[in-house]
Amino acid sequence: MHDDWMTLEGRYTSGVYAKIPLRIVLGAGARVWDAQGREYVDCAAGHGVAIVGHCHPQVVAAVRAQAEQLITCSEMFYHAHRAALQAELVTLMPGMERVFLCNSGAEAVEAAVKFARLATGRPGVVAARNGFHGRTMGALSATWRPEYRRPFEPLVPGFTHVPYNDPAALEEAVGPETAAVILEVVQGEGGVRPGDGAYLRRAQELCRERGALFIVDEVQTGMGRTGRMLACAHYGLQPDLLCLGKGIAGGLPMGAVLIGPRVGRLPHSVHGSTFGGNPLACAAALATLRVIREESLPERAAELGASFLSRLRGISSPLVREVRGLGLMVGIELRRRVRPYLAALMERGVLALRAGPTVLRFLPPLVISPDDLERVGRAVEEVLKSPIAEDPEEAPACQEGL
Ligand SMILES: *Cc1c(COP(=O)(O)O)cnc(C)c1O
Repeated sequence: MHDDWMTLEGRYTSGVYAKIPLRIVLGAGARVWDAQGREYVDCAAGHGVAIVGHCHPQVVAAVRAQAEQLITCSEMFYHAHRAALQAELVTLMPGMERVFLCNSGAEAVEAAVKFARLATGRPGVVAARNGFHGRTMGALSATWRPEYRRPFEPLVPGFTHVPYNDPAALEEAVGPETAAVILEVVQGEGGVRPGDGAYLRRAQELCRERGALFIVDEVQTGMGRTGRMLACAHYGLQPDLLCLGKGIAGGLPMGAVLIGPRVGRLPHSVHGSTFGGNPLACAAALATLRVIREESLPERAAELGASFLSRLRGISSPLVREVRGLGLMVGIELRRRVRPYLAALMERGVLALRAGPTVLRFLPPLVISPDDLERVGRAVEEVLKSPIAEDPEEAPACQEGL
């Protein structure tokens, strides 16, 4: 009987997602269960959304309580949870002054790019190769991968891409028409590539010298993922605009832009969002921030991430090109396409992600237990030690999911 809804979704879904034949019905902490009651350790976590784990009791309680009081209230009116959330979010990075709330990572990037153009009066945006910033037209223009971009050209004018971790290329690219440089601290979707601290600091300095704004996209690295509340803290970065999303509201849709003093005043009506800052998402985000602090999740991500990285680096397999990561954002670059290895991990009760065609990516909830993480390590070791035939019918990269 339960085949019915998989068939139904298969028939009516838009088609833009590469579907995995798994029917998830329940989640708790770092685990999810399928319709047959099979348990999985979830290192996909909704692309890293489930930072505090699935259905964290404090998030559930906050959502339930708020749903009974008020679900929608636009930002033209005031709301206590929104006020509390905005006040808390600016404290994540000393020097930040204000917050724009929206509903996704791409929307946060769109807002940051618009604010940068508005504040500088310049059109240009310099982004990095292998960078990922979302799929709406502005965010897509900052995203690098040709497979994502090409079908939708012409994109927004003024965007250029430079090699990541190459300060000389940035020196060349940032000029009098540059409104902003936008970078990730660790490139997530582009292959789990950690940024070099000196490079990121130089990017910030160049922006200051040449009148551009520095946008850091922490949609994936933020909220404790890399072992600090914000990955910027690893290198003492102080961007002018900082984008957040994914895990910020414990699984509810939310994006945010922290706005620094160099942005200046934003006039009324230049931007907005119907659902932005709604009380339900704000209540969930406040509960999520409380959980991250009370359970010391950034510290946990730092410790567990370091031991997971060394566990994975200890696996000797000719398939492995490199193991990279920061905190609980971990990638294994293989000499093969990863799709069949993801399927083999799933058979062993582990859900993981890709980051490009050859990188296995792990974004576990930060509440994951050391035992569950070891279960993941063991499963990875098993699948990497029993080479799997290449999938001859593999779809081209542009058809594979995010
Ligand atoms: C996921 C992601 C986005 C896009 O977020 P959506 O919520 O899918 O729009 C943007 N930037 C980075 C770095 C991301 O990882």
